Amino acid sequence: MDEAEAEDPAPGADDRGFPAYHAPRCSGLGELDSLLTGCRACPRLVAWREEVAQVRRAAFQDWDYWARPVPGFGPPDATVVVVGLAPAAHGGNRTGRMFTGDATGDFLFQALHTLGLASQPTSDHAGDGLTLHGVRLTSPVHCAPPANRPTPLERDTCRSWLAAELDLLSPGLRAVVVLGGFGWQALLPVLAEAGWRLPRPRPAFGHGAHVVLPATERRQEVHLLGSYHPSQRNTFTGRLTMPMLVDVLREAAGIGGLGQPSGHTCRPERPARHPEG
Ligand code: SF4
Repeated sequence: MDEAEAEDPAPGADDRGFPAYHAPRCSGLGELDSLLTGCRACPRLVAWREEVAQVRRAAFQDWDYWARPVPGFGPPDATVVVVGLAPAAHGGNRTGRMFTGDATGDFLFQALHTLGLASQPTSDHAGDGLTLHGVRLTSPVHCAPPANRPTPLERDTCRSWLAAELDLLSPGLRAVVVLGGFGWQALLPVLAEAGWRLPRPRPAFGHGAHVVLPATERRQEVHLLGSYHPSQRNTFTGRLTMPMLVDVLREAAGIGGLGQPSGHTCRPERPARHPEG
């Protein structure tokens, strides 16, 4: 490294190199989340997240939208990670918490609560008291994209945040549940960047997909599980039912040592039971 390179300043928040420079240098999730929420590396997504917050949806006219990158949500010793694709414009981008404030989140949190992994079945806003047990929710893209579709460049720019998050979680991490094929495709290169060895050909997404990533010099074995995304398009049509999602999460929870609710059939209409109950 010559002298000029040595004196190069660290990239600023609106520099495309901001995540790749700062994320691997974070020593804990608190620092990572703090830096992440100031990221402005993707101009199109910064403009979109802020425009949505100005225009707002009629039902949320009184809301002061978060309008920033949405950090992961869940304890730092989580053994299971649930990965979507990106926050929703009027969900996470409004409330500032992953999967919070929209129908997709309602479905996911009901499933988590059924298994005793969430303290309540609903997730309305960041101050609602919800806590997660052993599970952390995150995404490969942390800003809401137009039409829920980040560009490949935006996806790649954001990759370092999730790679660093998985690195920080990795001592205890045992299972990763991916919601939807887009999230699956986005996550595979993140796992490779974070040090796991992926099989070739790359594993295909499907509901119920289950791939074991073997231990490496740097990483412990991790199980990768796929579920259809709990979007309204999937849940309204019955492509993804509550028992289907609960079954995948139950399998991940078992791998993660989070306990198994008794019985094998999901009955979401019954009061939720905790693993110890
Ligand atoms: S999508 Fe990721 S990299 Fe892009 S601005 Fe948001 S947090 Fe930063």
